[in-house]
Formats: sequence, structure tokens, C-alpha cells
Amino acid sequence: MSPKTPLIFEIKGNALDDGPGIRSVVFFKGCPLSCAWCHNPEGQHRQAQIVFDGQKCIGCDSCIEICSQHALNRETAGFLDREKCDLCGDCLDQCPSGALEKCGMSLSVNEVVSRVAKYIPFYQASGGGVTLSGGEPTSYPEFAGELAAKLQEEHVHVLLETSGHFDRTAFDVHLYPHLDAIYFDLKIVDSARHKELCGVDNKRILENFQDLFLRSMEGGVNLLPRVPLIPGMTATKKNLVDIANLLREVGATRVALLPYHPFWIEKLAHLGRPRPIAMSSEYLERLMTQDEIAQCYLPFAGLEIVDA
Ligand code: SF4
Ligand code: SF4
Repeated sequence: MSPKTPLIFEIKGNALDDGPGIRSVVFFKGCPLSCAWCHNPEGQHRQAQIVFDGQKCIGCDSCIEICSQHALNRETAGFLDREKCDLCGDCLDQCPSGALEKCGMSLSVNEVVSRVAKYIPFYQASGGGVTLSGGEPTSYPEFAGELAAKLQEEHVHVLLETSGHFDRTAFDVHLYPHLDAIYFDLKIVDSARHKELCGVDNKRILENFQDLFLRSMEGGVNLLPRVPLIPGMTATKKNLVDIANLLREVGATRVALLPYHPFWIEKLAHLGRPRPIAMSSEYLERLMTQDEIAQCYLPFAGLEIVDA
């Protein structure tokens, strides 16, 4: 696989939460960020991964017997020694319960198009389309751009969900001309804190946001800023005030605030990964109260809060 060609870890149909109307969402595998609260941790690594769901396992040990690499062992945390596993897939064929799955499909642009094109009548009837998500689609500008171009030839609305951390030259050449809308996530304004919780500083993200937002005001691709509300991380009073000020400075009139869901944490165990230190059990159990959520809206007074 060329580094320019992504693996796709899911194509979700009938999606109602990733843009207007009924949509298909194409999830790219691989992301330059590693946010502590990432809802799609299976999208962080570029390579394919074996996913093990202990809840589905019936304990037959067929997989252990078939594995020539001796990578499966009940003494190993998470059941699978990922250093030993060569992703041959033999255990998947052997598993009777679907407890083992491979995450990451190698698909051509045309294969992705054919999978989503069958829903075109639903997109057209509902004002929907296709959303490129991840992971980070802009990490693969040639592939994502070719996909978006082919969808636009079919008159399909193409929306990009992005962390904003990308090389703008490649983005402008390959992807930007074929987009109808961008959902741009703004997380943390303090660069050191951004690096601490997301793995990279935010210099490039803020530059890209300002550039793309100004272009959207001048008739370019429509851009909606989104802010994930993660208690104690993004959803601190200071950070939300900083983001709201940044939005006002560029002339934004709308923003989407994304509620926090801790349901993704099981996915980490399926990937054999520990919880980030910032995500203690106590933290995860503590959902935001309605009052706390309402407080998050206050710094954005004067901006229209929209769904995304
Ligand atoms: S994918 Fe192959 S090497 Fe990896 S655990 Fe399964 S059988 Fe073993
Ligand atoms: S083959 Fe599937 S059900 Fe049997 S032990 Fe392995 S993971 Fe569990």
C-alpha cells in the first residue's frame, strides 16, 4: 500500500449526524493527532489492526490453535500480542462468534464510489451526500480529492470533517476544489495544552482555520467551526472564551458545539490499548450535567449555535 493510499475502516450508510440530510460517511484510517478523548481510536493508526471483542468471545480457542505466530494468548493483556501478529487473518476465518475482526479495508477510489453511489436517490431526496471523516482524510489528499471529484461528477454533496492539521498546498491542489462544505474542529487555543492532549501543537490548525474561514467568507467552500465539549479539557471556561473570541475575530456567525459521549472507551480495549491517563474511570463516569452544558454555551453569546 502506498503511503498516499489510505485504508478505510468503515463506510457508514444512513448516517444522520455527520452533516445535512441522509449521508454515507467514509472513515479514513490514520490521523496526525492523538486526542485523549478520540471517539474513533481505530482511526488513529494508518495500518490495519486486529480488533478483539472479549464480550463476543465464547472461549473455543480455535484462533489460538490456528495462529502460526503464537500471537494469541489468554495471558497476554488484550489477548493479542500485536508485536507478533502479522495480520495474516487466519484467526478471523476460524472465529465462530465474530469476536475477532480486521479493522482497515484496502479499497480503490472506484470501489468506495460504487459502495456509496447506490444511495444517491436518498442523498438527493434528503439534501444529504457523502462525508469524508476519520481519522483524517486530508492526510491522503490525492485519494480524498479523487474520491470527492468523482462524487461531484455524480452530483453528490461532499463534506469534509477535519482536525485542520494538514499541508495546505496539497490540500488546495487536490481536495479543496472538490468540496461543498467543511466541518472544522477547534479544540484548544493554548498551544502547549493542545500538544499535551492532542499530541501536536495547534499552529498549523489555527493558520488553516483562519485561511479557510476567510476564503469561505469570500465565496469559497462553506465552513462550519465545531467545538467538542470535553469536560476539563476543551470545555473549560477559559478555553471556550478563547475559542469564542477567535471566532468573533475572524467574523464567524455560527458554531456547532459537540456533546461529549464516553461510549467510545470500550473501543480502546478492543484495540489492546490502555486508557489515556487523562481518562480515568472517575472521569469517564462523570457525565456533564445539563447546567454544565448550558454554561458551555455562554461564551458563544451572539453566535448562532447550530447542529452538525
Ligand atoms: S491475524 Fe494471523 S498472526 Fe495475527 S493473531 Fe490472527 S492468526 Fe495470528
Ligand atoms: S476463535 Fe473467536 S470465539 Fe474462539 S476463542 Fe478465539 S476469539 Fe474467542
